[in-house]
Amino acid sequence: MLKIGHTVTVPGSLKGAGTDSEPDVIPIPQELETVPGHRQDPDTVNYYTRNYPLETHNIEQFAWASWYLNTGDIKDTLDEHLRLDRPLVLAARDSGDVEPTAEPVPGKDVTSEIKQKALEVGFAMVGFTAYDNRYTFKSKRGWVKPYPNAICVAVEQPYEETQTIPSETAEKAALATYRRGGALILQLADYIRSLGYHAQVHSYADAAAAIIPMFVAAGMGQQGAMGYLLSPYFGSRHRLTVITTDAPVTHDQPVDYGINALCDICQVCVNRCPGRALMRDKVWWRGVEKFKIVAKRCRPVMAVCMKVCPVQRYGLKTVMDHYASTGQVLGKGTHDLEGYEMEGLGYFGPGELPRFDADFFHNPEGTAEGALLEGLKAKIQSGQVPEGPEGDRVFREFRAALEKAVKDGGDVMEAEWYGLDDEE
Ligand code: SF4
Repeated sequence: MLKIGHTVTVPGSLKGAGTDSEPDVIPIPQELETVPGHRQDPDTVNYYTRNYPLETHNIEQFAWASWYLNTGDIKDTLDEHLRLDRPLVLAARDSGDVEPTAEPVPGKDVTSEIKQKALEVGFAMVGFTAYDNRYTFKSKRGWVKPYPNAICVAVEQPYEETQTIPSETAEKAALATYRRGGALILQLADYIRSLGYHAQVHSYADAAAAIIPMFVAAGMGQQGAMGYLLSPYFGSRHRLTVITTDAPVTHDQPVDYGINALCDICQVCVNRCPGRALMRDKVWWRGVEKFKIVAKRCRPVMAVCMKVCPVQRYGLKTVMDHYASTGQVLGKGTHDLEGYEMEGLGYFGPGELPRFDADFFHNPEGTAEGALLEGLKAKIQSGQVPEGPEGDRVFREFRAALEKAVKDGGDVMEAEWYGLDDEE
């Protein structure tokens, strides 16, 4: 038995649907202890925020997302998702301006009321922290209201469907989980307004900030080697978003769940990623020590990392109990945890990975404007822009598309994907 450094008692607020069951006590072996949350250097975070603000992938990688939505294997599923998700995105868009529906009780802290309501409507986890504006995306700075608190909420993605990753069944489960969360968060916002406070809903579909640092600050988990938040009950099998609010709440604190060091030893997702998109070692990135992924190798084969993670599969308590008594990562090297089937390619057990030709990873990249320019360059190089009326027509089309991309600005994703326009 390894020496236990500390224990973490997982509170009801992190237990999801079974909130009336006893809290779990998770033993963290001394050799897996690092720091609560993650290591960071606030001065460096501040420097990058000021000089190189973050931008949403929906803008920076719009070309890929657009290509995927229009040509992907599950286009029909995605079209249906966008249709069903549209009203939720619309409701979230203007939520920061909606006025409270009651007078607040002066001096009353409403943390427990909001926590109880969040679990009651169906969120699996809820935590409280300061809204960290350093992680707001550049294009969203005008949208985010100056409400000081972030309520971090997560919905659980169904267990059985998730174990079939990579599959259309799992994709559908993920999309349905986003929609479920999108509806629940509107209910929670209404409740906060009924307590007398503002509530701005950050849409699952178009996040306004990098939110994982806030979930880590709220003690809801630590970031795993695949880049997701790993929470004690679901690992990465959840979908996250936040409400920002001026409601008076008490902030939670970051926790050392032992995950920073567990990932250094485990490495199952790193070894099993079909796209070889994950790195073995952490790096310092914008002032935070973390694992970085190679996004363009991740995008075509997303989510195998979720399926093969022992924390997702067995829960953190089971994983830590096993590690404390054996010094081994539960399930590592077994077909049960590491095996997966890829449609058309077959089954891949521990130590086996599919092979793709180089073209598989050569997909559109960059912003909408960049993709338009690349498209024009390709046409010029292949002689499709001759002198005369035909060439003029190509330039006119390019100009119209560029004007639209520039006009849509920060709402480019909503405008293109959800068909929203300025009148709505
Ligand atoms: S599979 Fe292992 S290395 Fe990857 S996130 Fe899960 S615990 Fe960390």
